[in-house]
Amino acid sequence: MTAPDSTTTALPTEDAIIDLARSGLSACGADLDALLAGGAEASSTITLRSPITGQVLGQMAADTAESAADTIGKAHEAFLAWRDVPAPVRGMVVQRWGQLLTEHKEDLAKLVTLEAGKTPSEAAGEVQEMIDICELAVGQSRQLFGKTLPSERPGHRLMETWHPLGVVGIISAFNFPVAVYSWNTALALICGDSVVWKPSEVSTLSAVGANALLTRAIEEKGGPAGLNGLLVGERAIGEALVDDPRVELLSATGSVRMGREVGPRVAQRFGRSLLELGGNNAAIVTPSADIDLALRGVVFAAAGTAGQRCTTLRRLIVHSDIAGELVDKIVAAYGTLSIGSPTAEGVLVGPLVNQASYEKMQASLEAAQAQGGEVLCGGTRVLADAAADAYYVEPAVVRMPGQTEIVEDETFAPILYVMEYTDFDAAIELNNAVPQGLSSAVFTSDLSEAERFIARSDTGIANVNIGTSGAEIGGAFGGNKETGGGRESGTDSWQAYMRQATNTVNYSGELPLAQGVEFL
Ligand code: NAD
Repeated sequence: MTAPDSTTTALPTEDAIIDLARSGLSACGADLDALLAGGAEASSTITLRSPITGQVLGQMAADTAESAADTIGKAHEAFLAWRDVPAPVRGMVVQRWGQLLTEHKEDLAKLVTLEAGKTPSEAAGEVQEMIDICELAVGQSRQLFGKTLPSERPGHRLMETWHPLGVVGIISAFNFPVAVYSWNTALALICGDSVVWKPSEVSTLSAVGANALLTRAIEEKGGPAGLNGLLVGERAIGEALVDDPRVELLSATGSVRMGREVGPRVAQRFGRSLLELGGNNAAIVTPSADIDLALRGVVFAAAGTAGQRCTTLRRLIVHSDIAGELVDKIVAAYGTLSIGSPTAEGVLVGPLVNQASYEKMQASLEAAQAQGGEVLCGGTRVLADAAADAYYVEPAVVRMPGQTEIVEDETFAPILYVMEYTDFDAAIELNNAVPQGLSSAVFTSDLSEAERFIARSDTGIANVNIGTSGAEIGGAFGGNKETGGGRESGTDSWQAYMRQATNTVNYSGELPLAQGVEFL
């Protein structure tokens, strides 16, 4: 099935793309022309490109191993001053950053649209997440609480206290070019840490914009220079953060492949890592579900953001009694999705990030068919005539005979594999039977099914009657198994950015030993 009627053929001109970059950056306090001029003279550069048209905007200067070490050194110096600033005062910097993000929400969102290809609504939602985490972090800055415990010894006080950790390195993925950075940064800053960020090489301009707003907030509030380092470059520059012993915590978001490389290297030097890696998220739809609600939840989670969210719905596990009806509705809904430039009115599905992503999608569709799958709709490239290096594709739905090898893989593109079940417990087992463990959902009106699902789904996020994507920042965000085990955002996640100490204070004038031990 193709959806030519819903494809928006007009792509913006190359000048319009440059204008988007220039206006978004300048409103955030950076200058595109100065960045491009710097790139022309630099020995090491990075390519600036937009997936909307596939055009290259130019080259920007990239970091080198020496400049990366220098930035980390400055962040360490900044940490030594910052850790002594009272946490609620540190919170004032984050509060100001949140205000600037609110003021420049649309400007920064333009850069996210430009580089990640998100629709303006989704891009604005991403910046809203940054604002939300700033608000959460400001409140948290007054609540870095530890516990006081009863000591077994008279005249002793036993307590746990939390202290600033050091330099926090952040490596982030292209698909959430600024939000994940802010989850880490807002908490790290109130916890008394400095940050050094290596954004995705695909979304450098969004990073420059977000970082410029933070620099302004730090300057206005009198924070130390070097508190927010930015490293521009590809994977090798990320490795500078991985290997530098001054980086106490490395928070790395990206593919499982990246986590496999980074995690052991940080562990080798006994550093801490917080890994937020790939997902392979499922939704179970039971016969008691509200089908129309499930339909909307499934279509947004599977086709939204062109399937390029870590929480994108990739596996639909639907009861045989309703599979026919639900799948027909999904295919029909996919036919109405408008695909095209995210800058165009009404478009819901933007481009894939690059050619490699498109080729991986095609390879996965071929593998799925070879493994017994039937492509029910989608998979076809559109708008290739309008821009040869832009990759727009119709979201695909593939009926699978069961969970074959390809279904266990995360293909970072809009492919929804559909499988049927008859026994609910077996459906939960199928939900869990992949190496990744980020998000999952059940659509049901049966309380017992909902509770059994929450108890047994092995993912870090498990939802009822809501899709797998679109988390709020109040809850801890992260996944299990190959997703890496890290937790970011709300509740207790702040503790990852601090050093914990247990303190025993003796005010008894005697020296009783614990466990009644006698000595001297
Ligand atoms: P990627 O792994 O290709 O790159 C992510 C980042 O890691 C980039 O900044 C890259 O330069 C850097 N990097 C890669 N290899 C490295 C290495 N060996 N050492 C140091 N740095 C290295 O991922 P991507 O294509 O940008 O993003 C898509 C992936 O990210 C998907 O798998 C998606 O599920 C995952 N993701 C996960 C979350 C989450 O919270 N769990 C959020 C967003 C994206």
